[in-house]
Amino acid sequence: MIPEHSIDYCPICGGGLCGIRICGIDTNAPHGLVVCDECEAIWLSPSITAPHQYPDSSNAACPICLAPLWGDQSRWATYEDCVVLGWEHAIDPELDHVNES
Ligand SMILES: [Zn+2]
Ligand SMILES: [Zn+2]
Repeated sequence: MIPEHSIDYCPICGGGLCGIRICGIDTNAPHGLVVCDECEAIWLSPSITAPHQYPDSSNAACPICLAPLWGDQSRWATYEDCVVLGWEHAIDPELDHVNES
């Protein structure tokens, strides 16, 4: 799956998209991550000039809630999710992608 909304191309690997993910769906503490869809670099804020980190490659987990990074409690954020996170202003509309459902 390609991120629906991204903030930029990945400055680490150069080829991936820094997509916005929402994690903690169905909890009362949803939180956002920016994840490169190629190299899995993670940013905790919608700014790729901030420090990034990498998940454990054999057991990738969300750095905030420690649930599986690609688990059912998270997804590529929809526009509405981005609004919930307050990150909608970070979206680069030229990188938007609509996944076939
Ligand atoms: Zn990358
Ligand atoms: Zn999480």
